[in-house]
Amino acid sequence: MSVISPYAYIAASILFCVGLKMLSRADTARRGNQISAIGMLIAVLATLIVGGMNYVWIIAGVVVGAGIGSVAARKIEMTGMPEMVALFNGFGGIASLLVGWAEYHKVVSMEAGAFDMLTIVAIYLAILIGGLTFTGSLIAWGKLSEKLPGKPYLFAGQQIVNGILVLAVVVGGVMLCMNPTADAAYRILGVAIALSLVFGVMSVIPIGGADMPVVIALLNSYSGLAACAAGFVIENNVLIVSGSLVGASGLILTKIMCKAMNRSLANVLFSGFGSGTASGGGGGGDVDGEAKPISAEDAFVILEAARSVAFVPGYGMAVAQAQHAVVELGNLLEANGCEVRYAVHPVAGRMPGHMNVLLAEANAPYEQLVEMDDINPIMSTVDVSVVIGANDVVNPAARENEGSPIYGMPIINVDEAGTCIVLKRSMKPGFAGIENPLFFKDNTRMLFGDAKASVSSLVAEFKEL
Ligand code: NDP
Repeated sequence: MSVISPYAYIAASILFCVGLKMLSRADTARRGNQISAIGMLIAVLATLIVGGMNYVWIIAGVVVGAGIGSVAARKIEMTGMPEMVALFNGFGGIASLLVGWAEYHKVVSMEAGAFDMLTIVAIYLAILIGGLTFTGSLIAWGKLSEKLPGKPYLFAGQQIVNGILVLAVVVGGVMLCMNPTADAAYRILGVAIALSLVFGVMSVIPIGGADMPVVIALLNSYSGLAACAAGFVIENNVLIVSGSLVGASGLILTKIMCKAMNRSLANVLFSGFGSGTASGGGGGGDVDGEAKPISAEDAFVILEAARSVAFVPGYGMAVAQAQHAVVELGNLLEANGCEVRYAVHPVAGRMPGHMNVLLAEANAPYEQLVEMDDINPIMSTVDVSVVIGANDVVNPAARENEGSPIYGMPIINVDEAGTCIVLKRSMKPGFAGIENPLFFKDNTRMLFGDAKASVSSLVAEFKEL
């Protein structure tokens, strides 16, 4: 290792920690991202100057990887970002698996006793966690992109099959670590690789609908843990630090997501949420009343008279790319003497922090962003709540219908505002496939159409004032 590498690694680790801390606030998140990226650049350069590497392979890898990455980044629509993030987690996992596998070859070529137990355990863990992260993320990608059905896939004896898989993995691990150079060891490793890939599929297929945010956060954490194990394998301190940071922050995010759904992790992973409803559009309970469509002109009249408005964005805002128009409308309302808030549900959209990112991109005033726990107690004092392409996160079935699969999940209580205006294109259910009684409440008005077009019409009306 070069003389400067340890210092560079320490500097990089500090930058990662500072960057992560800054990511926790919307107004510092962008700078936090840049600081972390500088940390990563330092870590990469410091690793490259250690020497003893085959630079031809590294350059070839950089060219191919950067080529594919930049084409994918250019082609991907903003709405495709959640799927892309799921794939990134998966690629992190497969990279760790391959590092572990390659390093195993070094171990078997060593004299017995020339390697330590920690390396073998780390190799096994990098392979296992990396493998399950890879296939688990592929399934998550399929579900998010709706290439695979979102509903949970359950079959009789699923838990038993999973139990046997875990047992086989543990027994294989013990056998491999006891004698990593035995004749059968390589076969055990091969079986472990296959099992980890199967286990990734088995762990994500029973999870569906509204529980996917927890899975995304958990897979993110696994990709960090796999990288951390790979760091131990190749004895690279900065990889151990960065992997641990991703692993730990992913676990914290998983906990936040579980809290947002009011469910325990075990319940999310093993209950097969929404198995009876996700495809059918039921689960919302008995729906009374009729949906009341309104025009943009009527919505303008309601908003023009409002003294306080709460915007509640959801996945539809991302699809419509309506965030800039929404913030423009918010600014016009404020100029009209109205108090404006943007209430963000932790699982709105398709990736953690999705709505915060979009609102930050549109420069929504930071002081107007409100969390679910802060808006709900004052929602009854809000004149108009405006739901911009949100559905599951404002579904009162979660509060009112004990039979609903999302019963108990905290929602933003938009129906408690004086009037609720819902912007969406049709009466279709949201990601969880559950009918939404909000649309039929007395004080709800449906403004049908693409959210950006509808909000732009409202903006135009205000500008004519
Ligand atoms: P939903 O998916 O529940 O609803 C989105 C709504 O947006 C739909 O009802 C759709 O109705 C509407 N919509 C779509 N396109 C447009 C458009 N162009 N203009 C206007 N409306 C549009 O979104 P929510 O944000 O309320 O909830 C997120 C869901 O995703 C939750 O179930 C959550 O658990 C899940 N999830 C969240 C993740 C996260 O990390 N945040 C990750 C994975 C899943 P219509 O088609 O009629 O227009």
